[in-house]
Amino acid sequence: MKNIIDLSQKLIRIESTADNKNGLYEVLEIAKKELKQFSVRTFEKNSTPSLLFSNIKNAKDFKILLNAHLDVIPGLKNQYKPLLKNGKLYGRGAQDMKATAACEILVFKELVNKVNYPLGLQLVTDEEIGGFNSAKYQIEKGIKADFVIAGEPTEFGINNEAKGIVWIKIIAKGKSSHGAYPWKGENAITKMISFLNILQKKYPVPSKESWTTTVNVSQISTSNKTTNKVPDNCEVVLDVRYVPLESEKIVKNVTSLIPKSFGYQILLKEPSQFTSENSKYIKLLKTETEKIIRRNVKTVYKHGGSDVRHFNQIGCEGITFGPIGDGMHTDNEWVSIKSLNHYYQILTKFLLSI
Ligand SMILES: [Zn+2]
Repeated sequence: MKNIIDLSQKLIRIESTADNKNGLYEVLEIAKKELKQFSVRTFEKNSTPSLLFSNIKNAKDFKILLNAHLDVIPGLKNQYKPLLKNGKLYGRGAQDMKATAACEILVFKELVNKVNYPLGLQLVTDEEIGGFNSAKYQIEKGIKADFVIAGEPTEFGINNEAKGIVWIKIIAKGKSSHGAYPWKGENAITKMISFLNILQKKYPVPSKESWTTTVNVSQISTSNKTTNKVPDNCEVVLDVRYVPLESEKIVKNVTSLIPKSFGYQILLKEPSQFTSENSKYIKLLKTETEKIIRRNVKTVYKHGGSDVRHFNQIGCEGITFGPIGDGMHTDNEWVSIKSLNHYYQILTKFLLSI
């Protein structure tokens, strides 16, 4: 247990944020030192480093791949000074997800020569900004696995699905005229409002948390800067979060509502995350977790995605699974020390039972 806490604290002390490239290299050095006797491959894309440890030299196709991101979102200065208090470890990344990374590193160290299948440990440094230069890059280089476990915070729920993202810019064109003679023009803003009303009927904002596709109108603008003019253009940007079931159709479902006279541009499409709860690995993980924490464990969904979605894209199963804590991405982030101990035991039992 002391090892987990010590290693977690070492990792938390490093300001490994996206804009501090040195921090990303430094935080990986700590892992390298801890696992110096094992085979490791180094990857780098756009000055973003990542590592892959394995029990078989140059392995690409793993049975189980443990994944952890060692980057964090920016925190207050004092959050980089880890603090132990009342059974909790506080600090930036305590919950998301340096302490689980520490567990993964130490479990790997203990078990890597005890399991008889290809086991990998992937440490990445850009999950918080999309994972394109670490996890996705490694996948492009041929890394895959039957089952991926990313140690994101889930309170021991097994997170097997997460929403995907589409960002769409929509442009309405009109005809300008003097504001005192609006019948001579065509107001692009009013045209846009009519469209937004139709959109809201199809995708109403749920009154409370629900597992449905949501559409957020995040930006609206026109180039018109004067008051006495009918605007001839209006742009909106939509932030669509879709459920995995709608993956194939989401772009068509939204764009089919756009009037023919409008233009649009897909700015981003990110896949959803999905692994069936019938996966044998999920069943096994559920059994081992229940034995250790002595309560029912469920599969859960998340509204935001993780690096697991990149693996799902190439047909690998994967989940996020992590211990108890709170305050991720806030000034008061912590993880329960007892639950870290449980987490370590669960991963150990799970990996040995395969
Ligand atoms: Zn995270």
